[in-house]
Amino acid sequence: MRPGLAVVLVGEDPASQVYVKNKDKAAQESGFSVRTERLPATTALAELLALLDALNRDASVHGILVQLPLPRHIDAHAVIERIDPAKDVDGLHAANVAALVLGRPGLRPCTPAGCIEILDRHAIALEGAEVVVVGRSMLVGKPFALLALERHATVTIAHSRTRELAAACRRADILVAAVGKPELVRGDWIKPGAVVLDVGINRLADGRLVGDVAFEEVASRASAITPVPGGIGPMTIAMLLANTLQSARLSCR
Ligand code: NAP
Repeated sequence: MRPGLAVVLVGEDPASQVYVKNKDKAAQESGFSVRTERLPATTALAELLALLDALNRDASVHGILVQLPLPRHIDAHAVIERIDPAKDVDGLHAANVAALVLGRPGLRPCTPAGCIEILDRHAIALEGAEVVVVGRSMLVGKPFALLALERHATVTIAHSRTRELAAACRRADILVAAVGKPELVRGDWIKPGAVVLDVGINRLADGRLVGDVAFEEVASRASAITPVPGGIGPMTIAMLLANTLQSARLSCR
């Protein structure tokens, strides 16, 4: 049995097109069966929900990913909640969020799971570490904080209303930037020897892709840092495949 992934893309957002193409390619290269459903930006909510119902019923599909953001007229919450939680490989359905909060088995969101995986692969311990997460989205910041807490880190979540953001970051043994602001995190925000995970992907006016961290400045103080591109992005895709494989295995039981 081949693990089956369905990726749903609504509209023509250029960044989403690139992400979907990369996911499709990685899934194919890994021997998964993958289908990408491309729908026009004018698609009605009911039409999208009907497609999800069909994918939920399809036994050859083990993972369903709806690429975000969705066009404004579509209620993203209604869409995510329509995905069968057992196929919700983005880990965003309320049932999977509850499982994460409760520390029960479930599908974990790919980007924060990829951050944990990269730390594990480099034998960087979370237990007892001061972790500062900048950003509190449901996609990255909050789930990463919960995953780090589960691994016994001491976690601070910073956001746009945090006073003294630089001082908060300076406490971090492990700093995660998931903000969406190009090169917000500067070299002097980093405790010497800290580990820095840069989740941000920002396209500058000159076409360059940069993270939320000023790479050169920060790299000179950090003991380890993820690059943009080529760091957390590929890990996110790897975790999407891992989640799809997990769903496929569970469906055989
Ligand atoms: P989001 O939903 O826009 O959340 C951004 C967070 O950053 C919010 O919590 C916001 O605070 C906080 N923030 C904004 N400006 C700030 C500031 N000046 N100082 C401190 N905090 C600030 O974004 P997201 O979905 O989490 O994504 C964040 C970044 O990661 C984006 O660049 C996105 O493209 C990238 N991303 C990458 C991957 C990957 O695979 N590498 C996956 C997902 C996302 P408030 O809550 O107070 O507004």
